[in-house]
Amino acid sequence: RSKDAGGGVFHAYEPQLHVQAEERRVLEMALRQALAKGELHLNYQPVVETTTGSLSGFEALLRWTHPEHGAISPAKFVPLAEEARLIAPIGEWVLRTACKEAARWDMPVRVAVNVSPEQLHSPNFVTVVAQALAQSGLPASRLELEVTESVFLREGTGALTVLEKILDLGVRLSLDDFGTGYSSLGYLSRTRFSSIKIDRSFVQGASRGVKECIAIIRAVVALAQSLGMATTAEGVETEAELGLIQELGCSKVQGYYFGRPLPVEEARTVASHARRSAQAA
Ligand code: C2E
Ligand code: MG
Ligand code: MG
Ligand code: MG
Repeated sequence: RSKDAGGGVFHAYEPQLHVQAEERRVLEMALRQALAKGELHLNYQPVVETTTGSLSGFEALLRWTHPEHGAISPAKFVPLAEEARLIAPIGEWVLRTACKEAARWDMPVRVAVNVSPEQLHSPNFVTVVAQALAQSGLPASRLELEVTESVFLREGTGALTVLEKILDLGVRLSLDDFGTGYSSLGYLSRTRFSSIKIDRSFVQGASRGVKECIAIIRAVVALAQSLGMATTAEGVETEAELGLIQELGCSKVQGYYFGRPLPVEEARTVASHARRSAQAA
């Protein structure tokens, strides 16, 4: 449009950039208050065992309902929180809330919590995790922390040491969005991850018949098996995708096919049903 109007590149983009910066500033200010105002809550998405179909646990996913703008995606506000140095307090709230809510479910399934690199590198992170467990009464074995490969990017930050301390608490670790970052197989063998989560993009690619995606999933499953780790396929939406994932040997699945992220009461109901069908079996 601006090209046709004869505007140069800078004229075309400057106002746009300005709006973005302004929008960011406003969002950042709102996010700063979101915690105190109770605008944050968690949803829980089921994770299921591929072979038995039984409930393995839930992943806690952060939600922000802005009073005017409505629901804002974590894909948008989590990076903003990271840049604005708000992720530590928000992440602490997520940990405490997830532990507290999961402790009340009547099925001892696991809860997985996403952890940002910023959070992991903050000096009191291990204490925060230990306190969230102690205050909620949730056994450490029921908590899993999801980190992405990017935690290993900043050398000398002691990420491995922090992860070791987390493991010493009895908490599990999983490697999220595997294959989308700077995969270093060295870190995989040096950290005791319980599970590698295969990013949705590979699942989607595989279901469209992209040979490379199928090959990568196969290789990751083989690698995980040889390291004694499980694999979780993310973003399984259809029966056909589930079939493919079963065939490729992923141990767990998560995705809209089994359930969307649910409000805590609904997750609780799902956990109760799972308990009953487990007892019936
Ligand atoms: P993630 O950890 O990889 O979470 C999985 C995302 O995939 C979630 O998006 C989930 O709703 C979505 N998803 C699950 N199944 C399907 C499916 O079948 N189809 C499709 N299209 N999507 C599916 P969500 O909730 O929007 O979260 C996006 C990302 O934001 C997360 O990706 C995670 O990186 C980040 N995030 C969410 N909650 C937190 C949090 O509490 N702390 C931190 N640090 N990051 C968080
Ligand atoms: Mg995750
Ligand atoms: Mg993921
Ligand atoms: Mg993902």
